[in-house]
Amino acid sequence: GAVIGILGGGQLGRMLSVAASRLGYKTHIYEPGPNPPAGDVAHAVTTAPYEDEAALRAFAEAVDVITYEFENVPTSALDLLESLKPIRPNRRALAVSQDRLVEKAFLNDLGLPTAPFAAVDDLTDLQEAIAEIGCPAILKTRRFGYDGKGQVVINAPEEAEAALADMKGAPAILEGFVTFFKEISVIGARAQDGAISCFDPGQNKHEGGILRTTTVPAAITDAQRTDAVLLAAKILNKLDYVGVMGVELFVTRDALIVNEIAPRVHNSGHWTQAGCAVDQFEQHIRAVTGWPLGDGSRYADVEMENLIGDDMDRVPELAKLARYQVHLYGKAEVKPGRKMGHVNHIL
Ligand code: ATP
Ligand code: MG
Ligand code: MG
Repeated sequence: GAVIGILGGGQLGRMLSVAASRLGYKTHIYEPGPNPPAGDVAHAVTTAPYEDEAALRAFAEAVDVITYEFENVPTSALDLLESLKPIRPNRRALAVSQDRLVEKAFLNDLGLPTAPFAAVDDLTDLQEAIAEIGCPAILKTRRFGYDGKGQVVINAPEEAEAALADMKGAPAILEGFVTFFKEISVIGARAQDGAISCFDPGQNKHEGGILRTTTVPAAITDAQRTDAVLLAAKILNKLDYVGVMGVELFVTRDALIVNEIAPRVHNSGHWTQAGCAVDQFEQHIRAVTGWPLGDGSRYADVEMENLIGDDMDRVPELAKLARYQVHLYGKAEVKPGRKMGHVNHIL
């Protein structure tokens, strides 16, 4: 069978590899770091930095199509890879989601609301942005942030200088604080023929900036559910997207506000493993290999809970429970805040 190249070797790459394997494909992981979780289940692993041209070339030659589970692959590596093999989802989707400023401008151009925002490169920018947007606000690095890292809440203008110091000189963005009732996300998929299928929106709870649980169905109205799915479809179409995307939304009194998009399978879509005939990982593999999209309709209510750090101590108890699916990522070292696995509880 064909070989799917995956940039990034974390748990998402691991679960993509399992799904690919079930459809008769092999996967080849490219990951700079040692002992990638995906390496245990993939058919081949390249351990090399994204600056290693020879390694990138050999990787591209060994695969039929390239996808990714990590959006911060350097442009130079993508340029080289793209000249050798197709990259799905395409470069535009990566460029848009790698930079919070570009992302928000793209969304607003599409007519989709975001938090008010302003680019911040220095203290003057930040002071002007605070004057315009008001407090509370959140200062975030434009690039490389995940799990709430590289973010600081500003409650008063006097906090500007300290907040900027937290950015460590990186280009930043100030976002107005959105007062939301709930957070939901849409996991949407688009196939090569342009067909779109979205999973039922999940409701997300974060703790300390990290996703804690996703529950389906979300406690939203039918109209909100329809709006959320249509909004995700609009993004997928505009990007001529192929694959699975996560769209994070804030639900406020009168609108759905887009927080961010992730051009890949998403943590808040892990419930699909227990709630759908075809989960987000298989859906992504289907899309990037040119299959029709599968049946992503939801047949169960599910609560997905992340196992973070010491939550691993609960695994022996969780393993005894009925209607629980346990997923572990095979990470050797437990660290505070590190995602070690998740459970899907079929409600
Ligand atoms: P991820 O791991 O999802 O990529 P991230 O580091 O990119 O996380 P965000 O999604 O930007 O971080 O923010 C993490 C959480 O912080 C959000 O899910 C939300 O709960 C809260 N948050 C972020 N931005 C805002 C905002 N402008 N207003 C209110 N809450 C916010
Ligand atoms: Mg993010
Ligand atoms: Mg997020």
